[in-house]
Amino acid sequence: MPGICILGSTGSIGQSTLDVLARHPQRYQVVALTAHKNLPLLIEQARLHQPRYLVAADEADYASLSELAADAGVTAEILAGDDGLAYVASHGESQVVMAAIVGAAGLLPTLAAVKAGKRVLLANKEALVMSGHLFMQAVREHQATLLPIDSEHNAIFQCLPDDFRYGDLQAAGISKILLTGSGGPFLNYQLDELSLVTPEQACKHPNWSMGRKISVDSATMMNKGLEFIEACWLFGLLASQIEVVIHPQSVIHSMVQYRDGSVLAQMGNPDMRTPIAHALAYPQRIDAGVSPLDFATLTDFSFQYPDYARYPNLKLAIEACQAGQYATTSLNAANEIAVEAFLHKQISFTCIAEVNAAVLANIEHRQLQSIDAILAMDAEARSLAHQTIKRLAV
Ligand code: NAD
Ligand code: MG
Repeated sequence: MPGICILGSTGSIGQSTLDVLARHPQRYQVVALTAHKNLPLLIEQARLHQPRYLVAADEADYASLSELAADAGVTAEILAGDDGLAYVASHGESQVVMAAIVGAAGLLPTLAAVKAGKRVLLANKEALVMSGHLFMQAVREHQATLLPIDSEHNAIFQCLPDDFRYGDLQAAGISKILLTGSGGPFLNYQLDELSLVTPEQACKHPNWSMGRKISVDSATMMNKGLEFIEACWLFGLLASQIEVVIHPQSVIHSMVQYRDGSVLAQMGNPDMRTPIAHALAYPQRIDAGVSPLDFATLTDFSFQYPDYARYPNLKLAIEACQAGQYATTSLNAANEIAVEAFLHKQISFTCIAEVNAAVLANIEHRQLQSIDAILAMDAEARSLAHQTIKRLAV
């Protein structure tokens, strides 16, 4: 039975992963679970899944997690902080690591799993956006297996030929990768209404239930921008080989267009348990608890191209992708700060793109050849984003 470590088990992806695992108790064993703030939920998960290790991401929470575990009769070994996360991500019993921490915080533990040659199920797209070149180099060097959890990338993976060679679209007869996105909750709003939308409205995605950060990213379509960059690194694509298509129903999760005119799409109900189950069992298939598509109810099935006036963040991300690693690292950092400020009602929804654009306009091109250089760039962009927010704050 492969041992599973879930980095970020209390989040939306983490909980969906546990839901799939609970359907297959004879097939997988939960080795480690980690959480940042919601320690009571982590304990509840531990009672159900009996992991060997529990990790509080914040070092300062070691004592309170130990106390909660003792009170609940949970006997798992308690660890905390960055070292604890890296320890479980690279542990000999963790054959499979689900990387489901949100944001830049996921980079180092995910890299620890990669460097230990694990089968890494990648939900944490920000890690790849921040450090794509070094990350993919580490995957190759340490012979890790990287399987995409992001539904679009999982769909693309499923539509590629089995013998697809990294970056070689020509040999595979592929003319384009079609990255689909719903357009988020504000697809049909008037443009002048956008500055007034609230965090609650932004987090209410029409099709998917997700964490708050990715929900806001979906509303601005920065999520599609991060996914554009993620796709380039995962499959070795050039920006010119990807096209973003809005598909509001989220039934098609992305497509691969072949030279002969064929378009292969992966479809299913919008439920992350499908890509999670796919990656867990790959190349086999297991039950994910997802109800099958009911074609009789799919009355509307539409597509359109994105309007950059509505989604300036998508344009910024595509430009950053073309500019290089320094730009995507900075954009990711700026966006995390801007989204946080919007969620705390310090800036308006439309200011998220203003913060991101201001940071990109003020950073200098430089080569990032180490993870330390990436983290320094990330810190610099965060500081610039904070300064911009002070100027814009409502
Ligand atoms: P979430 O906010 O629901 O959960 C985040 C998890 O990360 C939680 O377990 C939390 O405890 C942990 N975490 C937060 N801050 C941390 C920190 N500083 N250090 C360590 N751990 C920390 O987020 P989510 O929606 O589950 O998304 C997780 C990742 O998966 C994101 O990168 C997101 O882009 C990606 N993703 C999510 C979905 C989805 O449907 N939710 C789909 C595709 C990709
Ligand atoms: Mg996605």
